[in-house]
Amino acid sequence: MTDITFSELGLAAPILRALRTENYNTPTPIQAQAIPLLLEGGDLLGVAQTGTGKTAAFALPILNRLSVSGKRAGPRQPQALILAPTRELAIQIGEGFKAYGRYLELRYATVYGGVGQVPQVKALRRGVDVLIATPGRLLDLMGQGHIALDKTATLVLDEADRMLDMGFIHDVRKIVAALPERRQSLLFSATMPREIARLADEILDRPKRVEVAPSATPVELIEQRVYFVETSRKRALLGDLLKDPDLARVIIFTRTKHRANRVADQIEKLGIKAEAIHGNKSQNARQRALAAFRNGSVPILVATDIAARGIDIDDVSHVINYEMPNEPESYVHRIGRTARAGASGVAISLCDGAEREYLRAIEKLIKKTLTPVAHAHETDAAHNTKTKATESKNKKRYSTRPSAKRRRNKGRQTRQAA
Ligand code: AMP
Repeated sequence: MTDITFSELGLAAPILRALRTENYNTPTPIQAQAIPLLLEGGDLLGVAQTGTGKTAAFALPILNRLSVSGKRAGPRQPQALILAPTRELAIQIGEGFKAYGRYLELRYATVYGGVGQVPQVKALRRGVDVLIATPGRLLDLMGQGHIALDKTATLVLDEADRMLDMGFIHDVRKIVAALPERRQSLLFSATMPREIARLADEILDRPKRVEVAPSATPVELIEQRVYFVETSRKRALLGDLLKDPDLARVIIFTRTKHRANRVADQIEKLGIKAEAIHGNKSQNARQRALAAFRNGSVPILVATDIAARGIDIDDVSHVINYEMPNEPESYVHRIGRTARAGASGVAISLCDGAEREYLRAIEKLIKKTLTPVAHAHETDAAHNTKTKATESKNKKRYSTRPSAKRRRNKGRQTRQAA
């Protein structure tokens, strides 16, 4: 948080009132940096991930400019367009606009695939000032003549690196081509791979760059523990962990949809409510699960990486990596679900011997060693997957007298060589 206030940033009274309703007292660093720049009308390149308050960083100045200009959107002609890679993120951004703009006379709509388009088309026909969209559905609706972007003077590309991961960059370029040349453009991305830097170059005009330390905030604030446990014993260990009443609102991550379903079923068998969200669930089922988790009626959400992207739920007390992610960046995204906006949180990883290489890649990325926790399900084999001390002791032992197995292997190698 910063020591500047929202009113010092130059936001209009109805927006300040909405922020009080939301209990936002001080701007987050990205808000303090981005809002004044955006109110002046310039382009912005924001290097920031979810959890930093970036949604309000772009939503507040957009709302402010629209409300001050007094212009209203004509049918099918949004004044501002926000592009998001996933439906969940689009919905969340839409909710942000509704909340921050609740005392303004502006209209907001969110369009995304996987649901019927009729209500979306109706809203567009009435006219929306701010349109939040995923690329595929937006292009569909544009193709059918339900949306024209030639009067859209503000563009936000959110989570651009996810757009790239999910194969949307081509769609994004098509959409941008339909916008007027003279516009305000913003691009946010947690990381800056070369392709995103190139895209930013194409889309943005002399942008100011605003950066909040990527992943530094969450990783520092989150207590990160690791349990070395064989896969076959993870289920029992999870049961034990869930007995702790501190685990009030928990997201459990798995690598596969199938495993997400199984883990949710296992938890239900323990008499604890759990919901799974992943790509095979309908949009409505996912929304229901998220709503139940958000309102606290279901304390545990089991999710795959893609399904969890951009989910913004406050007060997640614990993130559990039931399976270690095979991409180290996913670990940072996963644990960023807890410790939102300055709160603290706990991340627990269950790591099987076969997942040790993933753990090593994660520890290298975050430049930190996770804290190992001893537990009842630790087998000798799990334990032997080993502390540095035992590792070096073993090395010494092997160097003086190779084990029977090593000698056998050596024999085999010599035979193969021959
Ligand atoms: P975001 O990075 O936009 O996904 O925001 C992360 C979380 O921080 C959301 O739950 C926001 O509601 C919350 N948030 C954003 N800005 C502030 C603020 N200035 N004060 C308190 N909470 C905030």
